[in-house]
Formats: sequence, structure tokens, C-alpha cells
Amino acid sequence: MSAPINLVVLGPPGAGKGTQAVEFAQQRGIPKISTGDILRDAVQSNTELGQRAKATMDAGGLVDDQLMIAIVRERLGRVDVACGFVLDGFPRTVAQATALDEIMASQGALVVVDIAVPDDALVARLALRRVCGQCGNATGVAAGAEVPPCERCGGELVFRSDDTEEVIRERLRVYAEATKPLVDYYSSRPTFRALDGNQSPEAVGAALNGAVDEIVSELSVSVATGGDAR
Ligand SMILES: [Zn+2]
Repeated sequence: MSAPINLVVLGPPGAGKGTQAVEFAQQRGIPKISTGDILRDAVQSNTELGQRAKATMDAGGLVDDQLMIAIVRERLGRVDVACGFVLDGFPRTVAQATALDEIMASQGALVVVDIAVPDDALVARLALRRVCGQCGNATGVAAGAEVPPCERCGGELVFRSDDTEEVIRERLRVYAEATKPLVDYYSSRPTFRALDGNQSPEAVGAALNGAVDEIVSELSVSVATGGDAR
């Protein structure tokens, strides 16, 4: 049996992180675990943790580190992650990353990939983003061209008012400030790679697959020779 692929995908809003996570998970036959999904899942299945999360969100609050960690811990304890997983949106803080390392102590090494895109490229990309008014599907459109109907349902694609340059730059600033310590936390590890996200989704996907395969093969060599992967 090959080693499990336990992948964390980091990247700013607009970097295409979600799309890459979904595709990679499908190709490798492992679950994609996003914090949004597991929160909804925990709330729906009405677990004790889910009830606590729901109470927090209903009150307009943000689910704190501790509760988020507990929910992720529960999710990563299920059998479907035996061959690995792709985590999208977690960890967001160094406290969460530290907790994830503790969880992974018994589940194998973590591979961390940061999809890096310069701010100016993200602003340009997000300015071309349109959202379907009917089904919520988000998609990029070509600059200057007529906006086509939604690929998924034929609905009208509209510009989201919070996708203005000012709002986007502020979102990116907040993201960078919050995530810098997280990238610093991981970047010195041999199982970390920064990928150039400023290219086509296909090229980013190929780079992602290449990086993960390289890290996993290094890990198996390291295990075979008794070296410490971290
Ligand atoms: Zn639609």
C-alpha cells in the first residue's frame, strides 16, 4: 500500500485553491475536506460539536480555534481518510496548525502547498469574477467580452458588489496578515512547497501533482532509511 497523501492547500482568495483541492481529491480518490463543508456537516448531523458551532454562528459569531480544531479532529478520525485527504481552509492560524500536527502524529506526514499569486494578478482575476444570481456558481469571464449565461443552470451572471478593487485589496491584506505566520510555520519543512499560482489552472494542477508526488517519494525514502521526515 502506498503512503497516504495528507495534503493542506494554502492560498489567498482568488488563487483557485478550492478548484485545485477538488480536482486533486477527485484524481487521487481521497476526500476533500473544507472547513465550510465540515461545519455544515457537523451542524446537520447535530453532533454536540455541531450544536456548539451552530449556536455560535446563529449568534453572528465566528467559530473559535478550539471548536474548529475539535471539529477537524473528529473529521480526520473517520475511516475515509485512511488513504489521505485534502484540507482546504484549515489551518488558518498557527494554533490550528500546531493542533493539526498533534492530530497527525499518529496519521502520517503532512504535505503543505501554498498557491502563491501576486496581489495585482488576484485583483485583475477577481475583477473578472461573476456569480450566478440563480445557483451561486462563481466563474471568471474574459475581459471585454460579453458575459455568457451560467454554465451550470443558464442563469444570469452578475458582478458581486464586494468584488470592487478596494474591497478585494483589503481582503488580500487581511489574508496576508493572518496567513504570513502560518506560511512561516510550515515553510522550512521539506514537505512544504510554494507553487506559482499565476498561470493557467491546468498548469497549477500539474505543478501541484508534481510537488505532491515528489514530496511523497522523498518521504518514503526517508521512512525506508529511518530518517526524520520533518
Ligand atoms: Zn447558475
